[in-house]
Amino acid sequence: MSGCVDIIGLGPGAEDLRCPRAARALEQATDLVGYVPYVERVAADMGQRVHGSDNREEIMRARLALELAEQGRRVAVVSSGDGGVFGMAAAVFEAMDHGEPQWRDLDVQVYPGVSAVLAAAARLGAPFGNDFCVISLSDNLKPWGVILNRVEAAAQVGFAMAFYNPISKSRPWQLGEALDRLRVHLPGSVPVMFARAVSRPEEHVAFTTLGDARPEQADMRTLVIVGNAETRLIERAGRDPWVYTPRSVGGG
Ligand code: SAH
Repeated sequence: MSGCVDIIGLGPGAEDLRCPRAARALEQATDLVGYVPYVERVAADMGQRVHGSDNREEIMRARLALELAEQGRRVAVVSSGDGGVFGMAAAVFEAMDHGEPQWRDLDVQVYPGVSAVLAAAARLGAPFGNDFCVISLSDNLKPWGVILNRVEAAAQVGFAMAFYNPISKSRPWQLGEALDRLRVHLPGSVPVMFARAVSRPEEHVAFTTLGDARPEQADMRTLVIVGNAETRLIERAGRDPWVYTPRSVGGG
């Protein structure tokens, strides 16, 4: 049997938010490669060989997947959400690009998943009803100055935004600085939402404004959503408000 690499987005958490095509590919895998918590989550009842690794070893993990496929294994490289959104997909292609020539002949397929930005947006209403962008605040793979420039540019052109990887033990101050930079360009009334562990039992969503948002409201499992000047809240008695950004801008 010939090997293959399936790059699989697991979705945000809830079983029924995993795309059926991704779930089928996962069942057929002989080997799972990915960040330990993710592979453990999926492998428990499937009897596959697990190759877990630390979150920072993405290129090694990608190379291992390609090597295993070369040996004839059906390898599933798993990411939470979508593999193409700050996940393993680009790492596999980087490894292929710079790796063994025969890796280009392997059967590789990417299976999309529901990324955190889509799951969080659906939970909140429609915060991304108009143009928006996603930015990872992790400076592990890019300089902090680049990130801050992108955040600033997004605010200046009126994008709503979703911040992935907002904070961690090793990156405690970045989110605070990003919020401070946004306050230079946007009114304090702009809605900010902290959407934690969306679609999981521990899900928690907090609503605030740019003026009041504090970095401590986020953790590693939170997606931070910043509206634009048009983003609105529909208040409801005893229930979370709906958040939406109108489809039209400035008389358009
Ligand atoms: N590939 C993933 C993102 C991985 S980066 C995706 O497409 O969703 C990890 C970051 O994703 C976390 O720091 C957090 O910001 C976000 N994230 C992942 N799952 C989430 C969830 N269920 N709820 C909220 N944010 C989530």
